[in-house]
Parts: sequence; C-alpha cells; structure tokens
Amino acid sequence: MGYRSGWAALADELAAFVLSGFCAGCDLPATLLCSQCCDALVAAPVRRETALGMPVVAALAYEGVPARCIRRLKEEGETMLSRPLGSALRTAFDAVVEGGPRPLLVPIPTGRAAFRRRGYRVPEILTRGAGLPASRLLLPARSTADQRGLDIAERSRNVARSMRARHARGGREVVLVDDVITTGATLDEGARALKDAGFQVRAAVALAATPRHREFTANAS
Ligand SMILES: [Zn+2]
Repeated sequence: MGYRSGWAALADELAAFVLSGFCAGCDLPATLLCSQCCDALVAAPVRRETALGMPVVAALAYEGVPARCIRRLKEEGETMLSRPLGSALRTAFDAVVEGGPRPLLVPIPTGRAAFRRRGYRVPEILTRGAGLPASRLLLPARSTADQRGLDIAERSRNVARSMRARHARGGREVVLVDDVITTGATLDEGARALKDAGFQVRAAVALAATPRHREFTANAS
C-alpha cells in the first residue's frame, strides 16, 4: 500500500469514527461503542468441538451486544468494530496457543459474492483487528448456499469440497479463524483442505459461538 492510499484509508476510518453517532451495541448516542457495550465485548472464551472433533475456542456468545456488533460489522460496513471485536478474538487465540510456538493463522475464505457485496473479508479484518498476521492460505473452490436454516448434515454437504489451499507446505502448524461458529462444518472443511495440502491443523478460533439451544432449535425444524 503506497503512502497516499494508506493516508486516504486512515482518513476514511477517522471520518467514520466521527460520524457514527450511535453505539453499535445499543443505539444510545455514543461514538462507535458506549462503555457498557465495550464491557460486553470483553472475551469470555468457551471451548467447543466441530462435528469432526476439532477443538475450537470462541471468544464470545453470539447473542445480545456481541451479536449486534458482529452483524453491524458483517452487514452494515462498520469495519471500525474490527478493533474491539479483534481484541476479544485475540484472547481466544492466546487461549489456544498458551505460550507455545506461534502457528500460522488462516482465515476461513470469503466467497466471491460476499466479498463483492462487502468489499472486505470479515475473518481477515478481525485477525488484523486482533493485531495478528493473517495467512490467506485458503481460497473458495466453489460457491455455497447460505448455511442459515440448514441442519448439521445439510451444512456439511453444503460446504463439502468448497475450499482449497493456495499451495502445499508440509508440516506447518495452522490455526483456523472464523467469525461465528454454529456446528463447525465450515471450519471442518477448511481443516480438510489444509490437511490435504500437508498442513497440520491444531485448532480453530472463532469470534463468537451460537448458543447451543439455538442450534438444537434450528436442527429440530
Ligand atoms: Zn452501547
């Protein structure tokens, strides 16, 4: 990024900061986030497993203020939220690594349609918001349907063979990153593609996990 485009990006970011007159978490007048909603974004990591048994640490429960802020980031272009949300993700990442050797952090890829709509990749800007380098090793191999409303088996079928690794590099340890985990089918597919390319997938981190009761409700329908 050249000097001028870097400066323009910073100016855009500052303008967005000044212009956002309501808290993203509760709509009270505030700049970006009120102090109560900031507190609601402090990580309270929960451990989960994907359908195929990969360990996942999620920083937050996907409900209330965190869910509203994540939707603002994903659907309303509030990319400034990648900083406070990224710091929660950082806590989950530290819980996975526990002071051991630093693995590569690989974001789940963003589909072409979602990238065209948003102009950014959510797992990637969250990783950068966490102050961590993102290794874009996974690419979409085909398009998939929206996972919402699908049960566990349908989710797995929907994402099967939907990703591929950019290149093979045997032996490197990686940790996958996604924004929201429900059943973990997407993370399992990312792990499958990386393992096929020779990477060792240690675990995954997610910004938020959907509460289990909602999973079961969705699966029952
Ligand atoms: Zn608030």
